This record gives sequence, structure tokens and C-alpha cells, in this order.
Amino acid sequence: MALVPLTEAQALVVAACAPLPVTEVALSDARDLVLAGDVRAADPVPPFDNTAMDGFAVRAADTVGAAPGSPVRMTVVGTQPAGLDRSLAVAPGTAVRIMTGAPMPSGADAVVMVERSTTVGDQVELTLEVAPGTHVRRTGDDLTAGQAALAPGVVLRPAALATLASIGLATAPVHRRPVVGVFSTGDELVPPGRPLAPGQIRDSNRVGLAALLARDGATVVDLGLVPDDEAAIEAAIERGADGCDALLTSGGVSMGDFDLVKVVLDRVAEMRWMQLAIKPAKPFAFGVVARDGRSVPVFGLPGNPVSSMVSYELLARPGVRALMGRRPAVAPPVQATAADALRRRPDGKVHYARVRCAWSPTSGGYEVRSAGGQGSHQLAAMAAADALAVLPDGDGVEVGDVVDVHLVG
Ligand code: AMP
Ligand code: MG
Repeated sequence: MALVPLTEAQALVVAACAPLPVTEVALSDARDLVLAGDVRAADPVPPFDNTAMDGFAVRAADTVGAAPGSPVRMTVVGTQPAGLDRSLAVAPGTAVRIMTGAPMPSGADAVVMVERSTTVGDQVELTLEVAPGTHVRRTGDDLTAGQAALAPGVVLRPAALATLASIGLATAPVHRRPVVGVFSTGDELVPPGRPLAPGQIRDSNRVGLAALLARDGATVVDLGLVPDDEAAIEAAIERGADGCDALLTSGGVSMGDFDLVKVVLDRVAEMRWMQLAIKPAKPFAFGVVARDGRSVPVFGLPGNPVSSMVSYELLARPGVRALMGRRPAVAPPVQATAADALRRRPDGKVHYARVRCAWSPTSGGYEVRSAGGQGSHQLAAMAAADALAVLPDGDGVEVGDVVDVHLVG
């Protein structure tokens, strides 16, 4: 059976994961969601000319020649704090004491910072000549009335959320946050915290996959532990499809007698099962279940603990991002230099090595070193890793070679 290139599987996933419907979400719940509508400033930001400094609002022309040792003296005609407009006016030879963010008095066209002033009774001596406009923030010089504050498709990171607040919005139109169900399959699995009988192991995948989903912004539904039984797997998929936008399973997609997830998916979903040209995470099943007019993508990830996480990073994560409306759905790699040789054997597959990635002040770039054992059961090395280094088919990379890495930490 021919191995399928990863990019082909990723394209299949992304095509099947259409962005979820658009809804208005409170800014406090919208972090990392994708903007899906027009957001325009109704009024200019800032809404009035104001000072960027604490100091004295003046007519710039009055400060000509002011310098340390030759101050100009002005009469202070009032104080203008931030938060209200005292409608003060600056006439020639006068100044208004003013605080950062306060509206500029009429007649004033510049601000001399307080550090260059000495108050003498009801007068002030200024030791700095300023040009018109100095320390004045003009009405609308962040956003003019009617201007788009952010473009649709933008990810609502903290600065974007703050910008929406600055134009007076309490909610934003976004693609809905995906609800994703997770279950593990395998007769040998025991939930963490319970004793093991001979032959049993702990279900670690569900905890790891739930955490990956939460990190990517999904709401996780724990669908539990499901035995290697066709009816039980089918029931879990049916139940999950009712309330979820996508499902993640682990185990039961490789070549063994009890690999029943792919058997069930073949029956209940429009399913593609494939062997990918990657290591780890070669087996991958992907199905779409039709439910109430919705298409629910089902990711059948491999059971080996490292494989399930790598499969998530390379395949499920693009699906989750696509559901959220993020483009590109497949996050691009970054470049790093190999600080250790990362060896492998030619086998027709791209290897994803678990590496530690650190900034190197000497080289001025990222450097990667092996994070430990590279077996697909060696979860501890995955936990020690903060990146996957892409090793193309061949003998690996030498010290000093540049490698693509996917940050996972
Ligand atoms: P499978 O793909 O079901 O044949 O599983 C491959 C390997 O991964 C086997 O050694 C399983 O015991 C192990 N495995 C499967 N599911 C899990 C899980 N949820 N947590 C930890 N190991 C698992
Ligand atoms: Mg199994």
C-alpha cells in the first residue's frame, strides 16, 4: 500500500473542516477566535485632541528661545485634569497645567513636559522651545470615524481585543468556538489514578489530547474510555456527533485484529484511512459523520502515546484551526540550527524528531537538540520536547544544518 504524503492528508482534513457559524461573543470570551465581520470605529479614536505628557499646554510661538538658563515665564491660568473638559483657553503669554490624556485647551498647540518647568507662584518658567504639535495626540490619529479597526480573518489576540474595546464594542462577530469530543479506545486501558491489572496500561492519550485541544481554543467534551467493541465505538461516535463539532479518538486505526475504530468509521462515516509517509503517526483515519445537516469530522488518531500527539499536531490541529476559520490552517514551521546531529535511516518517510528548542545568544537563532528516546511509546521525551524537528527522508541532519521545526511547547 502506497504511503500518503502528509500534505495530501492535511489538505483532505482542511477541506472537510469548514469554518463554524458566525456569532457575537463577549470580548472576555473571544481570545484567539477569528474575527468574521466588519468592525468599524463609529467615532474617531482618540475622540479629542489631548496631551501625551504631563506638563503645560502653551502656544508654541511663546516658547521661542526657551532653554536651560534662559527660561520663558508664563501665567498659569488653570489646571486641566484627564476625564473632564474644563473648556480652558490659552491666550498669548499664558499656559494651562495639564495631565496626560486631558483635552487640549483652546488656543494651545503644544505641550512642554513638566520636567522642563519650574512653578513660581501663579507663574511657570519653561526651559524648552517646542514646535507646534509637540506631545499633542490628534483626534482620530489612531482610527478615524468609519475606519475599519481590524480586518476580517484576524485572530483576536490581546491587542486586537483591546482595539475592539477602544472603539466601544463589548462583543465581536467571530466563528464559534469549536466543541470537540475526545475518547480513547482499547481494552488494555485504565483511567489514571486506578491500579493496573496484569497487561493493562494507563490511558494517557485522553489527557494529552484534551490539553492540546484546550490550548488551541476548543471546548473539550470528555467522552471517556471505550472498549475494543464495534457497538461501543459506534455508540460513542453517535453520542459525540450529537453535541460536538468534531471528534478525536485514539487507538484502533492500525493493522491489528482489534483495530475497530476504522471498521466502525468505514460504516458510519464517509471515511478515508491511510498510512502516511511520516514517523511517528503513520496510521490515520479521517471520517465525516453527517448529523442534523452538519458535517462532523472524526479524527482517528493512532494509539501510541507519542504518535497520538504528533498526529494531533500535524493533522487534528489544522482541522481545529480550520473550524475556527484560521488561515493558514496548517501553521508554518520555523527554522532552527541543529546543535546535535539528528540521525535517522532512509525509509521513505519524513521523521518528526522530538527536540528541545532554545534561543542561542551566540548564534542569534534557535538551536535544537534531541529531547531523548525517539520511540513512539516514549512519552517522557515528548514531554521534554518543545518542538518537532522535520527530518526529510535520508540519513538525518548534521550539527550546524538548518532544520524546519514545529513548535509544540
Ligand atoms: P492501537 O493503535 O490501538 O493498536 O494502539 C497502539 C499502542 O498504543 C498500543 O501499545 C496501545 O496499548 C497504546 N495505546 C492505545 N491507546 C492508548 C491510550 N489512550 N493511552 C496510552 N496508550 C495507548
Ligand atoms: Mg488498541
